[in-house]
Amino acid sequence: PMQTSAALDRIQPSATLAMTARAAELRAEGVDVIGLGAGEPDFDTPDFVKEAAIEAIRSGKTKYTAVDGTPELKAAIVTKFKRDNGLDYATNQVTTNVGGKHTLFNAMVATLNPGDEVIVPAPYWVSYPDVVQFCSGKPVIVQAGPEQRYKLNPEQLEAAITPKTKWLILNSPSNPTGAAYSRDELRALGEVLERHPHVWVFADDMYEHIVYDGFEFATIAQVCPSLYERTLTVNGCSKAYAMTGWRIGFAGGPPWLIKAMAKLQSQSTSNPCSIAQAAAVAALTGDQSFLKDRAAAFQKRRDLVVGRLNAMPGITCPNPEGAFYVYPAFAGLIGKTTPKGKVIDSDVAMVGYLLDEARVAAVQGEAFGLSPAMRISYATSDALLTEACNRIEEALSALR
Ligand code: PLP
Repeated sequence: PMQTSAALDRIQPSATLAMTARAAELRAEGVDVIGLGAGEPDFDTPDFVKEAAIEAIRSGKTKYTAVDGTPELKAAIVTKFKRDNGLDYATNQVTTNVGGKHTLFNAMVATLNPGDEVIVPAPYWVSYPDVVQFCSGKPVIVQAGPEQRYKLNPEQLEAAITPKTKWLILNSPSNPTGAAYSRDELRALGEVLERHPHVWVFADDMYEHIVYDGFEFATIAQVCPSLYERTLTVNGCSKAYAMTGWRIGFAGGPPWLIKAMAKLQSQSTSNPCSIAQAAAVAALTGDQSFLKDRAAAFQKRRDLVVGRLNAMPGITCPNPEGAFYVYPAFAGLIGKTTPKGKVIDSDVAMVGYLLDEARVAAVQGEAFGLSPAMRISYATSDALLTEACNRIEEALSALR
């Protein structure tokens, strides 16, 4: 057969999608697995968004649109950035893509040359290093462990910057840890970046609306206006509006970069689905009050899961500010033996044990660049979460 390309061979299939698939396989075999691996809200897309899509089909919005978004959607995104983030972007400063993952892909392909460095704090969303590597860039991974609540600190940022640094990827609230940066924390990172004018910021705010305990979400271009010219502020409909299947991501940034991303898109996907774009207009401009109700529901689940996990010997689970993930670390359990005599020598072994013996699917920390730990998504019912915690507790207490 034909050889696959060097670019393809540099990347791995998404580990989170792989775990979701493995849990589905077991379920198909009749095993009652509780899936805590998936990265999507269990809520449905709001009805008013679905109605807008149906109306779009009926009224013939079923043809090609402008490559990087309809004028209506661009206007809605401009309004969103102003309303939610206090950021002024003109319509030529926003782009619409086929999901947030595509926004990342466009931005990196449009800007990276071989050897360019991208600072990626770990634990990271699985796609960052792979997309950078696909583009012949070099991910510079900086470890931010549980002792620093999974957040990059200014000293680490300063130390990671070199003349080859092109981007810092900042994701708040974070997938996989739920950690979110306060205004002060962003300002402190911004002060470092002000000293290094060649470094750009990819601010991934995908989980902006899922925050807890009155946490005030902020994004770096808003907190540090001096960085506005070299920040791509990235967001999307997937998580906030429970629209993962509709595939709408978007970003605001300087006109040249937005134009560069559109050029690439014009030769790859062309416009995102016209019907999904109409639905996104409704999502972004409609009544936003349900976002708070959904965040409140997620907060209850977070409290449940974090409380239960921290009560289990050997588990350290920082209390996250947002998103719908927790990232329990378990250095103290490495080296223990299962009732069947297997040694838990890694987080891969741990999630395998939990899948086989507790019938709970989580994702190994290795996939997110920080071990030993695992990611648990709590975007599922309280009853299933309680049952999952019971099973995990029982399985962990059987380790010797
Ligand atoms: N950014 C982060 C941090 C994510 O977790 C995800 C999805 O998992 C995305 C971006 C991309 O979302 P999508 O491509 O589904 O819009």
